[in-house]
Amino acid sequence: MSSRLGGCMSNPTSFPISFEFFPPKTPAGADKLVQVRHALYAARPAFFSVTYGAGGSTQDGTLQQVQAILADGQDAAPHFSCIGATRDNVRLQLAQFKAAGIRRMVALRGDLPSGHGTFGEFRYASELVAFIRAETGDHFHIEVGCYPEVHPQAKSPEADIQAYVTKVKAGATSAITQYFYNSDAYFRFVQEVQQHGADIPVVPGIMPIISSTQLMRFSDACGAEIPRWIRLRLQSFGDDVEAIKAFGLDVVTDLCEQLRQGGAPGLHFYTMNQSAPTLALLERLA
Ligand code: FAD
Repeated sequence: MSSRLGGCMSNPTSFPISFEFFPPKTPAGADKLVQVRHALYAARPAFFSVTYGAGGSTQDGTLQQVQAILADGQDAAPHFSCIGATRDNVRLQLAQFKAAGIRRMVALRGDLPSGHGTFGEFRYASELVAFIRAETGDHFHIEVGCYPEVHPQAKSPEADIQAYVTKVKAGATSAITQYFYNSDAYFRFVQEVQQHGADIPVVPGIMPIISSTQLMRFSDACGAEIPRWIRLRLQSFGDDVEAIKAFGLDVVTDLCEQLRQGGAPGLHFYTMNQSAPTLALLERLA
C-alpha cells in the first residue's frame, strides 16, 4: 500500500483532504508554521482551516494566517465562533472576510472561557449559520462542527442529533467531526443524521497520535473518547516517544482506511501545526 513520497508529492490518497492549524503564539512558532505550510501544500489539500479562540488566540491571528495561505494561492477558511458576539460584530467580521477574498469558513458556537462570560446574541451555531446565510447569501461555503461521540454539553444523544440537523437546515454546506478513534461512532452518526434529512458531507476530523499526555488532555476537554486498549498501550510506552509515534501511526492509518473504505467523503487533519505526522499518515494511505 505504501509509496515513497520523497521530498515532493501530490495528494497521494484518492479523495479530498484538508488541514487545520492554530494561529502561532510566538515569532518562532510563526516561522516554523511557514515551513509546515509549505511542506503541506505539496500534498494538495482542498483547503486549510485556521482555528479561532482556542487557547486564547485572537481573530486577528486567525485572519493573518488565512490571508498568508490565500496569498500563497491555496484555499483557506477561518474558524469563526459566535460566543459573546453581537449581530453587529458578526456583520463587520463577515465584511472583513469578504474584503479579504475569503469564500469558506468554519462556523461554530465556541465555548465560554472557563465557564465564565455571556453567550451574547447567538445561543447556538445554528443561529450563526442562519445569520451568515441571511447576510451573505451563497457567498460562503459554511462548514460546521459535529460530534459522532456526542457533544459533551448535549442534553442527550438525540438532542445533539437534532441540534446538528437544525444547523444543517440553517444553511451549512458541509461538516467536520470532532476527532474520534472509533469508526463505528462516525458511521452510525452519518446514518442517523441522513435519516433525519441532513445529507451534507460529513468529513471525519483526524487527530494523529504524537504524544500521549497531549492527547489525554485534549480528549478530556473536548469529550473525545480514547478507547481503553489505546489508552493502556500508550501508557505502557511511558516516555518512549518513538514507540508512541509508531503505534499511533498504525492505529490512525487503520482508522483512516476504515473511513475511506466505508465511504467518508474526505479527511480533515488536525495537524497541531506539524507536517511530519500528517505526511507520514498520507504516505501510509497512498
Ligand atoms: P453548537 O452546534 O451550537 O452546539 C453546542 C451545544 O448546544 C451542543 O451540546 C448541542 O447539542 C447544543 N445545542 C445546539 N443547538 C441547540 C438547540 N437548539 N437546543 C438545545 N441544544 C442545542 N472551538 C473554538 O473555540 N475555536 C475553534 O476554532 C474551534 N474549531 C472547531 C472545529 C471543529 C471541526 C469542531 C468539531 C469543534 C471546534 N471547536 C472550536 C470547538 C467548539 O467550539 C465546541 O465544541 C463548542 O462547545 C460547540 O460548538 P458548536 O459550533 O458545535 O456548537
